Amino acid sequence: MSETEEKLAGLQAKLNKLAQEELAKGTPRDQIVQKVLEKLEPEERELVEHAASTSGGPQQCLFCSIASGKVPATTVYEDGNFIAFLDINPANSGHIVAIPKGHYQFLSELPDELDAAYMKLIKVLEAAAFQGVEAKGVNVLQNNGAAAGQRVPHIHFHIIPRFENDKISLDWEGKKMEPAQLEEIAKRIREKAAGQMKSAPKQVVVQEEKPTDKKPQKPTKEEQKELPRVRRRLP
Ligand code: AMP
Ligand code: ZN
Repeated sequence: MSETEEKLAGLQAKLNKLAQEELAKGTPRDQIVQKVLEKLEPEERELVEHAASTSGGPQQCLFCSIASGKVPATTVYEDGNFIAFLDINPANSGHIVAIPKGHYQFLSELPDELDAAYMKLIKVLEAAAFQGVEAKGVNVLQNNGAAAGQRVPHIHFHIIPRFENDKISLDWEGKKMEPAQLEEIAKRIREKAAGQMKSAPKQVVVQEEKPTDKKPQKPTKEEQKELPRVRRRLP
């Protein structure tokens, strides 16, 4: 047993006890994990989150079980490579989760051959979400790693329909950063990105302006104060 596995085994009893306490208090089942994590020491929490995000493979993966049909889901689209289904605890009505059927944790692990079809599916689902539940906006989110909020370690996009004043918060406090700091960070990321993009298709796509009635109008100043950051950034 590795040192980490030993520590985790030791933590198991504490986790079970905390979960039992939450159950006894009447905490809803879908909130128990969060409540238990909040009660752990920072290093214990880090250990549990790291283990959750890296352990297990296809055999223990919930989304692999959905992809293979072992676990039922409310499917909205399926083909040989992908399946999209309604989130069991939706942020809003029409919240879709879209996954590749193969087991990969991080988006960067998706085989390049699937890039275009996956992006096409996300585009199609974004439009379907607008139309299907008459949304006024749609967020497309994708979490990589426990620190980024990824609970199921299998690539997935969230497609979340949005409505005016729906009280979903995606806002964050912008950090202050000097131009020199930005440039320093950009330099490090730029080099990595350029290297990885060498194998990307070089075709230039010309964007045509198409009239559309789907996208919302720019919000007024008053509305802007009420809206989440993502919506405020619309052109
Ligand atoms: P994330 O937190 O980004 O890993 O998202 C995982 C999502 O999967 C959450 O929004 C869950 O509500 C959702 N989820 C978990 N189990 C199921 C399930 N059996 N069917 C559908 N969605 C699920
Ligand atoms: Zn999986």
